[in-house]
Formats: sequence, C-alpha cells, structure tokens
Amino acid sequence: MRLRFLGTGASFGVPVVGCECESCSSEDHRDRRGRHALLLEDDGRRVLIDAPPELRLQLLREGIKDLGAVLISHPHADHIHGLDDLRVFTRGSRRLPMYVPAEFEEELRRRFGYVWSDGPRQPESSVPGLDVMPYGDGDTIQAAGFSITCVRLPHGIHFSYGFRVGRLGILIDANRLPGPARDVFSGIETLVVNALWFGRPHPGHFSMEQAAELGASLGVRRTLITHIAHGTPHAEIARRLPSGSEPAFDGLRVEV
Ligand SMILES: [Zn+2]
Ligand SMILES: [Zn+2]
Ligand SMILES: [Zn+2]
Repeated sequence: MRLRFLGTGASFGVPVVGCECESCSSEDHRDRRGRHALLLEDDGRRVLIDAPPELRLQLLREGIKDLGAVLISHPHADHIHGLDDLRVFTRGSRRLPMYVPAEFEEELRRRFGYVWSDGPRQPESSVPGLDVMPYGDGDTIQAAGFSITCVRLPHGIHFSYGFRVGRLGILIDANRLPGPARDVFSGIETLVVNALWFGRPHPGHFSMEQAAELGASLGVRRTLITHIAHGTPHAEIARRLPSGSEPAFDGLRVEV
C-alpha cells in the first residue's frame, strides 16, 4: 500500500497569507503546505482522506484521475471545504461513496445542502454525486477494497476520527489517544499523526514532542507528522525531531 501526502498544513496552510516568518518566507518547496488530505493507494484502488480547500490543486499536482471512495475525518473547514472539487469524479451518472462520521451527517447535509437538494437543477451544471455512508466508533468499513477501522478520538472540545488500515495508524486532528482507542492501534508499524509545532501545547492538537512520544510509545518504526503550522521550517523540524519521527510534506509518497 502506498500513502501519498496531498496536503500537510494546519488550518491556515503554509505560508500563511501576510506572514513573513521563517517558514512562510522559506524557498524550500517542503514549506508550502496545503490543508490536510491523504491518499491511500493499492493496486489501482484509491481512497482519499479529507477534502480540503486546495483539493483541486493537489489532485492536479499528483495526477490523480480516479478515486474509489472518500473518507472524512471530521467536518472542520480545513478538512472538507474542497468537497465541490469531487465533481470531477462523478461526471455522468457515476456516484462516489463518501464515508462520514455518523455524528456529522446531519450537519454535513445542512452545510452542503445544494449537493443533496431535490430542487430544480440548472441544465449543464453539476454537483458532486456523493453517497453519504455514515460510520461510527469501532466500525470497520470496506472503502474501495480497503478495510479501515474507525476510532473516535478527542480533538479539544470537538472530536475527530482516527483510522487503522493494516499496520498503518492515522490520527488526524486528535490531541489524545485514550486507553481503549490505543488498543486499536497496537501492533502498527507506521503512524501518521497531526502536530502543530514544538513546545507550546494546543488544546486540540498534539505538539511535535507529543506526536513523537506517541509513536515511540506505540513502538512504531516510522512516525510521519502532518497538519503542521507555520513558524518552523521543514528542515529545522526534521533536525529537531528524534530519530523515528519525521515531518511529512506535500507530495511525499511512502510505501507501507
Ligand atoms: Zn485541521
Ligand atoms: Zn508564518
Ligand atoms: Zn479539526
């Protein structure tokens, strides 16, 4: 299975509009981070995790022409406001399954009401043909042939879902891994985990130190950090993280 990091930035992206800090003024391509999206690929099957505002640019950059399913971790704007760009995969009568946390189904249908509206449609215009597939805590879904276990995790006063796929663990926008959820991730070899920055804790996200410690405590071989805020350039993050942990960047591909 291959992982492709489509977007590895926190909610503002990097560079942040108007900011001239070290990472925002960096010329290293790894310091240009779109909002979060991740692609799982195996044998021509593809699952997209999250649909951020830069989705179209990410799909073009990576040359992605087809998807089997979309999986949404939680409904924060930086993870879902590119939903309309999924239209390209549902032209004609084609439908795309979109797995969403059951708790958010109603909110999703309200926020993107036009997608599922029964009202009159303008000829020659289109909306994404998405079939909502709700999932809940502990569910194992079959998305485009991938068997994915979904785990509800704390994200400050909100929550988000983490996923286990084989020996891969994915924790997007969580800030803790409580005991029962930890059991789901035991035995994984690769961890993808969100972290904003070094030092200062954030109520809704891991810090770099916490993310690296989590990977070490789970005994994984490789911890890949994503959802990174501006402030510290990629090269410095890579230098400061302990061995076994590394920052991801947009366009990174990893075999797992
Ligand atoms: Zn986020
Ligand atoms: Zn900045
Ligand atoms: Zn979030």
